[in-house]
Amino acid sequence: MRGIYVADVGDGLCMAIHTISGRTAQIDCGGQDEKAAFSGFERILNYFHSLDTFILSHYHGDHYNGLLYAYVNRYRYPPLRIREVYHPRIPEFREKMKLLLYLFTMNLVVFGSETGVMAYDLLQTITRINNGVRPKHTPCSKGELIKISGSVFEVLWPPATISDDKTLHDITQALKDFEKALEEDEETRRLYDHVKEEGIFEDYFSEEDGRNERERYGENYAYGKCERRKLPEVVEKANKSLRKAANHLGLAFFEDNRILFLGDTEGFEIKQIIDELRTKGRENFYILVAPHHGTHWHKSLEQIGCIYSLSSSGRKLCSKFKPQLKEISQRSLATFVNGDILIPEWWRFS
Ligand SMILES: [Zn+2]
Repeated sequence: MRGIYVADVGDGLCMAIHTISGRTAQIDCGGQDEKAAFSGFERILNYFHSLDTFILSHYHGDHYNGLLYAYVNRYRYPPLRIREVYHPRIPEFREKMKLLLYLFTMNLVVFGSETGVMAYDLLQTITRINNGVRPKHTPCSKGELIKISGSVFEVLWPPATISDDKTLHDITQALKDFEKALEEDEETRRLYDHVKEEGIFEDYFSEEDGRNERERYGENYAYGKCERRKLPEVVEKANKSLRKAANHLGLAFFEDNRILFLGDTEGFEIKQIIDELRTKGRENFYILVAPHHGTHWHKSLEQIGCIYSLSSSGRKLCSKFKPQLKEISQRSLATFVNGDILIPEWWRFS
């Protein structure tokens, strides 16, 4: 990594890193709304002039809602050829299938139009942005490497299997809250029945790159289309719980002592990640992308140091900013204060 650009997109994340070999890896493409996200995406593209790899930290709207908009507005930027896509692999745990079924349904409830199957929707959208050329697609778990033309990023989270009680407890709570929404909200139930009957989520496991789904459902497949509506309270609650559960399954990674990316990880994961880094002797970083937009903290973070800590947040999240970040970094930057954050080649600062 020799440069990094974090666009000011309000509450969300849209950033890119420029590798030593001159490749650009976009990390997430979300924002407080899709227009803000797309505008951030355009500014990054204008600055780096290329986009070779897309890394999605996790399947939350504030991390990918600009992608569909980028497709619709593709005439506004030069044609792209994204060669590789990386995203977190869903770990093994008890009731995994159930949680996925609920998550897919909730994606339909909240976003309305696509299939609800996250990896499939992501690939479909990027294939469209690529003018029909399908990118190579790699789900990642802890210990696996993301290699971008000589730069090596090691995945720290999610693990291949989840067995700890804390995460399982949040998952169980999300399942319960969703089941309550199913009982009380007819529209959620209708979409749930669709996802279940179509069996699309089972295909998700049958072939990881999603080709089966594509052949089966065709290029323009979408079902259960519904208007965006104001969600009833019980559905909002289920959505919130599912989002929390999904935060446990997001991507975190590092590249030697250059960048530590913590995505939207929660305190519990942060501790495990920092413990792991310390066993590897990695305690100091040039750049830390702070967890959950600078709003999550665990005291284990006191054991690392960085030159820059970067937080991407808007009006809503900035009030939850963790001031401790200032103590572990020489400079703490946040998009709601600094606007677009651009850290150029690091040798300029040596
Ligand atoms: Zn987020």
